[in-house]
Amino acid sequence: MNQERAKALLDIDHAHVWHPYSAVDAGMPLFPVVSASGVRLTLADGRELIDGMASWWCVIHGYNHPVLNHAIERQLGEMAHVMFGGLTHPPAVHLARKLVEISPQGLELVFFADSGSVSVEVAMKMAVQYWHGQGRPNKCRFVALRNGYHGDTLHAMSVCDPVTGMHSLFSAVLPKQFFVAAPQAGFAQPADPEDLQALERVLVEHREEIAALILEPVVQGAGGMRFYSPDYLRAARALCDRYQVLLIADEIATGFGRTGRLFACEHAGITPDILCLGKALTGGYTTMAATLTTRAVGEAIAHGDPGVFMHGPTFMANPLACAVSLASIELLLDSPWQGRVSMIEQGLREGLAACADMAHVAEVRVLGAIGVVELIRPVDMRRVQPLFVEQGVWVRPFGRLVYVMPPFVMEQDDLALLTSAVMRVVGGLVVEGEYCVPSF
Ligand SMILES: *Cc1c(COP(=O)(O)O)cnc(C)c1O
Repeated sequence: MNQERAKALLDIDHAHVWHPYSAVDAGMPLFPVVSASGVRLTLADGRELIDGMASWWCVIHGYNHPVLNHAIERQLGEMAHVMFGGLTHPPAVHLARKLVEISPQGLELVFFADSGSVSVEVAMKMAVQYWHGQGRPNKCRFVALRNGYHGDTLHAMSVCDPVTGMHSLFSAVLPKQFFVAAPQAGFAQPADPEDLQALERVLVEHREEIAALILEPVVQGAGGMRFYSPDYLRAARALCDRYQVLLIADEIATGFGRTGRLFACEHAGITPDILCLGKALTGGYTTMAATLTTRAVGEAIAHGDPGVFMHGPTFMANPLACAVSLASIELLLDSPWQGRVSMIEQGLREGLAACADMAHVAEVRVLGAIGVVELIRPVDMRRVQPLFVEQGVWVRPFGRLVYVMPPFVMEQDDLALLTSAVMRVVGGLVVEGEYCVPSF
């Protein structure tokens, strides 16, 4: 694309288009992408960037993958969409069976949703309807972990971290939930008894009101990129059973291998009552999510009043999305993904280690194909974002977190380019007032 056309595109964008968590007219840097292939994005000016974000956890196989392209093209020849009320189709049925087969033992029912946030809404409604069906309609509130992130619709927001989730702004419309401190014990540590006591206190006190505990197993994503002890997750499962509270595991970010296990729940060997999947489900091709649950939850809902689960999106189980999801899962399972993820883990550990010695870096942490450099102050995005692009990589920090979660197919040399670019950019920052800014 020539410079003039790119400029015109950006002008129209600035005038009319909203981007995630952005203001109109803010003049934030914005880069037009014209194509993407493998682990590289091609910008309108011809520059190529190595993608460190996998488009927010999704693109595990890389862009423009021939197998996924073929799956969606083949389905397009059959039908792009058909309503799911009263009708069914092969892609949905085969995908549902595959999800039941690979997810933690005991999850047998699949509800297809439009996006991660909607799958969380669906999970919360399932929990409410479950207790309604059990004759306990007062159990309709939720307990969540601080630093959690579960999506941007109103009920999903209500269980996000109250501070980073801006609960004060929306306090008039958000339902009030219960919160416990984020677990302090790290991934390799045993659970901290104080963390568990805090959770148990809330469950003891409010078990007559609480429908479910919702958490991101082992890795808290957008609410802080924190890794915590699988032991905590195991103990939380046991506490939920003891106090008759359902457990909702939000694996929208962690699902499909990102943490080194196919699902993060496997680190603790637990099965949640309800599981949310999204993001990498479709390999990053289209929006779609799924909420899985047990037969026990499904039956309680069926036996309650009105006897049906009250949700049914227009684009439920879209055939293109189901076809590409099934192809993506098969591609993943047929690939040496565990070796790839542990190679990325190793490369991130080695490549990011030196950041830990920098005065403005609080911590460097790596788990599976996730690498995090936590700074002591938030980055000034307006000035820092272009530096990554100048280094030939796509990395999008938020707040104090510079983090990467590359496509699993990233080769060692590209990973080394990515981590050295992160090193150079982070190494060139200084603290100025409340922000980390470029030193020149
Ligand atoms: C991204 C994310 C969501 C929301 O998914 P959307 O598809 O953006 O609505 C929910 N929970 C977690 C853990 C996520 O990472």
